[in-house]
Formats: sequence, structure tokens, C-alpha cells
Amino acid sequence: MKIPFNKPYMTGKELFYIAEAHFNNMLAGDGPFTKKCHTWLEQKTGAKKALLTHSCTAALEMAAILADIQPGDEVIMPSYTFVSTANAFVLRGGIPVFVDIRPDTLNIDETLIEAAITPRTKAIVPVHYAGVACEMDTIMDIASRHNLLVIEDAAQGIMSTYKGRALGSIGHMGCYSFHETKNVISGEGGALLINDECFIARAEIVREKGTNRSQFFRGQVDKYTWVDVGSSYLPGEVIAAFLWAQLEDAQAITNKRLDVWQKYHEGLEKLELQGLLRRPIISDDCSHNAHMYYVLLNSLAERTHVIENLRSREIYPVFHYVPLHNSPAGLKYSRFHGSLKHTEDLANRILRLPMWVGMDNVAGVVASLTGALNN
Ligand SMILES: *Cc1c(COP(=O)(O)O)cnc(C)c1O
Repeated sequence: MKIPFNKPYMTGKELFYIAEAHFNNMLAGDGPFTKKCHTWLEQKTGAKKALLTHSCTAALEMAAILADIQPGDEVIMPSYTFVSTANAFVLRGGIPVFVDIRPDTLNIDETLIEAAITPRTKAIVPVHYAGVACEMDTIMDIASRHNLLVIEDAAQGIMSTYKGRALGSIGHMGCYSFHETKNVISGEGGALLINDECFIARAEIVREKGTNRSQFFRGQVDKYTWVDVGSSYLPGEVIAAFLWAQLEDAQAITNKRLDVWQKYHEGLEKLELQGLLRRPIISDDCSHNAHMYYVLLNSLAERTHVIENLRSREIYPVFHYVPLHNSPAGLKYSRFHGSLKHTEDLANRILRLPMWVGMDNVAGVVASLTGALNN
């Protein structure tokens, strides 16, 4: 039977809440469902303020505005990430400065950050790959010594923690994604978590087209007007209603994914001992959300062979990011510091295996992978 890479999970309550939004007669943003989602996110993560956005891309763009990125400002980040991590800052004239990743977690190598700092550096953007935390203590320490902002790209990180703290709640700001391919979904969707109060008032304005409409609705001002730059970053209530059904079940969703992850991890131990692949490495400081199960194969040629072989058996694994530093836009808008050898090497060898709630044929995937690696 066909095993797709991803299959979105529905809790069953989505349509009921959408119907409720419909009968509430409130379809624009910031209605009752949006408020429920905000409260849930604040309570779950400890963020001072959570604001739904229409994507993690939008949350990153808001963060770049709030960080006051000016043309020529530099932002240190990994090259092994999704384009939005970089684009959000490039849109403000910022320059992404890429440093290499750690071979164990594929996260930014925190020991390389300090050497990449210049007088133009404004922020560091750690990306928590596969929902496994970056070394946030070190990163926050570097940031405070150099007076830099930290914006966590926690697109994959909902329900994961670092030393007991929710991903996205550790830096000055954090960004979540609720895209269909993530753990908790609303089709397209995201959230900005604000952990430093000083950004809250402006965040509400930037999200509401640069107006003080949120203050107006709270009765804090008697008319609303254009007060700052901004755009429309909020989702409508139908999306928030869908998301609410998912957030209510976020723990159950995570547990179910962790079961699948654990089955892969146990099933693939033997191949790791034989030197045929490497499994993910999770440090004791992290609890993760099973966003992804990946393996590192020994070469690009082997990965190409394995993908073709599994596809012929109707199993659909995929590779992942094409590094940004030598992409066409990366060459134009960014620079990198030091060697990116792990980025280039690991991007060629990573293979992500099918992973979704309700996937019951992990043993079949493991058997097929074993077969593919042995011929
Ligand atoms: C998915 C993802 C994004 C973008 O999320 P959207 O909600 O689709 O905008 C950004 N960064 C990372 C690391 C992601 O995995």
C-alpha cells in the first residue's frame, strides 16, 4: 500500500468550530477563536504575547520589522533552512550571514556565531531543525554580550522544549508555523511569540496594517489611524477555528507522532550499527515533538538510489533544504562566514522518511530501506 511522505491529521472537531465561527458572524481576524488560540499559546509556552499570523513567513517578516532591520544590517543564521528565514530580513534590506551547522543536530553551530559578528550585526536567527532545540543558552549569552536580538525560527518546534522551556519562548521573539506539513496545522498559518514586552505594542500595530486598531477595539484610543509601517498579517476566524481544534489536541498529536518516531528509531538501530546510516541525535537537554524522522546516508549517490528504490515500492521519502548560500538569490542577497562544509555535505545525505499521525507501517518502511541499502 502506498505510503505518502506526509498526511495531514484532522482531530475531527475542525468543522464544528468552523461552523461555530460561521454562526458567530465574525469572520475577520481577532475574534473569539483567535483569542482562544492566543491564550493557549501564551499559557503553553510562557510567551508574554502570542499573535496568530497567516504563516510563519509572516511572523518572521513581523519580527524583522520589530527588530528594526535597516538596509545593510546583518543577521546570522544557518544556510540549511527554509527560504523564509532569510527572505524576511532581505525584504527589509538586511543581509543574511550564513554559518555552518552542527553535524549532530543539523542546527546552527553556536561556536561559529561569535566570529561572524561585525559592527553591522543586528540579530541571530536559530532554526530548531526537526523540532530539536539549538544550543540556546550559548546563543542567548552571545547575544547579550554583543547586544543582539535573537529571533527563533521555531516553525517546526511547537510542543518541543529546551531545558524545560518551550521553543520560541527563549529568544526575544519566536515564530511558529501551522502549515499543513507541520505537527499542528491550519492549512496555512503561524504565530509570533513575543518574549520581551518592549515589542508588544508595536507588534499589534505592525500586524494591523500599521494602525492602532487593536488599542481602539480595547477602548484605549477614541479613533484609529495610521501610526507606523505594517501590513495585514492576521488570519481570519475560519482559520483560527480550525487551528483551535488542533491546539486542543496538540499533546495527543505529539504523543502519536512520538510513537511513530520511536518505532523508526528502534527499527533502524541495526542499520546504524552496520554503518549504513546515522539516526537523529537528541541531547538530554531537549524534549522533541517528533516533527521529522530523518536518516543520514553515506553519500548522495546512495540517497538517489534509495529514493528511487523506495518509490518503486510506493514509499515516498524526500530530501530537504537546498542550502541557501549558493542558491541564485542567496548569491545575490547574502554572504557566508567560514566554511559551510557540514551544510553542503549533510544536505546531500539527508533522507526524511514518511511520518504522520496514524502511520502504522513503520516496520514496512524499515524493511524496504534495509532492502534498498543492501543492494
Ligand atoms: C515551514 C517552515 C517555515 C515557513 O512556514 P510557513 O508557515 O509555511 O510560512 C519557515 N522556517 C522553517 C524552518 C520551516 O520549517
